[in-house]
Amino acid sequence: MPHSTTIPAVPNESAALRAVRGSAIRNLLAVTEQPEMLSLAGGLPATDLIPTDRIADAAARVMGRPGALQYTTSRGASHCRDAVAMVEGVDPSRILLTHGSQQALSLLAQAIIDPDDVVVVDDPVYVGALQAFQCARAAIVALPITNEGTNVAALVELLEGGTRPRLVHTVNNFHNPSGITASTSTREQLADLAERYGFWIVEDDPYGRLGFRSAPPAPIPGGRTIRLGSASKTLAPALRVGWLNADPGVVALIERLKQCADLCGSTLNQLMVADLLADTAWFDAHVRAVTSEYSSRAQSLASALDDEFGDSVEYAPPSGGMFCWVRLPDVDTDKLLNVAVSRGVAFVPGSAFAVNANLTDCARLSFATLQPDGLREAVRRLGTAVNDN
Ligand code: PMP
Repeated sequence: MPHSTTIPAVPNESAALRAVRGSAIRNLLAVTEQPEMLSLAGGLPATDLIPTDRIADAAARVMGRPGALQYTTSRGASHCRDAVAMVEGVDPSRILLTHGSQQALSLLAQAIIDPDDVVVVDDPVYVGALQAFQCARAAIVALPITNEGTNVAALVELLEGGTRPRLVHTVNNFHNPSGITASTSTREQLADLAERYGFWIVEDDPYGRLGFRSAPPAPIPGGRTIRLGSASKTLAPALRVGWLNADPGVVALIERLKQCADLCGSTLNQLMVADLLADTAWFDAHVRAVTSEYSSRAQSLASALDDEFGDSVEYAPPSGGMFCWVRLPDVDTDKLLNVAVSRGVAFVPGSAFAVNANLTDCARLSFATLQPDGLREAVRRLGTAVNDN
């Protein structure tokens, strides 16, 4: 049969993809790549703090090892699983390596969520997690985050009302985007509720090592917690090495799914990460240097905000991570973004992270990417944009 000439150039989307909202943040990357643009937008760790020489050393060292350029197991190269297990303080049988922790979110969503299963997220939410759950066609329930982290009171109300979530997602350390760290009591209550009502907790923790003054409280206890970690914020995002730390039964499920997703991650990159993590003295000193620099950048951003906006900005000074969540009462930050971009500064408006909440006067400002001078100039441009908005 001759081919029809009316075949559409784009196939119809699957129901799974139809459920996914595009990420405004990833779309903004195109804007922030423009020269002269000062970006407070992306969740990009500081390029100038990436340990390029040490990573090159690791590459040279592992390149000659047998198997470095071969396929590895779907769980990941054992050297790297051992090094991650040491960092996490658990047995290597609990560790599976992923292509960034984003892949762990997406595999988990596919592995344990059926369409219409309830998944509880924070509002505002980490958009990459929301997208992974949407793609699994979950029924999303978003609870407004509190200063103590995930909203346990609202979760209890939901559970007592008969809702039975399959999974609760939490970024309990230096939350993206709100910067909030969950209290010990929130962590313990979540673990108790998970046991009582049979849901799984995803403790999505790429920022836990980036505390400015003190380490965050201990991870969420209990057998129903699936912890996700990442080398992206401490070493380099381009390594694309993340991990899942969970009961070996969960690891086995995800392993089977990873076989069909990508066979395995990059052996070379995993061996490089193993080399870097296992060099404990170097790694700890490196993380201390990164957090100390982020802490002073956060202070630069805060004092620039105070100078520029005075009482017309509200924020909690960041205690770690990469983000400062601000509220500019009476400013529509979606509209502001257009003006700001024309003045040479980008940020992410609150609406990009909102599920149900009205966050149109909020914005996420990253203090990690720019150096102090850049941060001050970016805030000055933001001030001009607010005046001209
Ligand atoms: N979880 C959270 C909360 C994040 O902020 C990010 C990155 N922005 C990720 C997971 C994914 O990071 P990666 O895939 O680079 O490990």
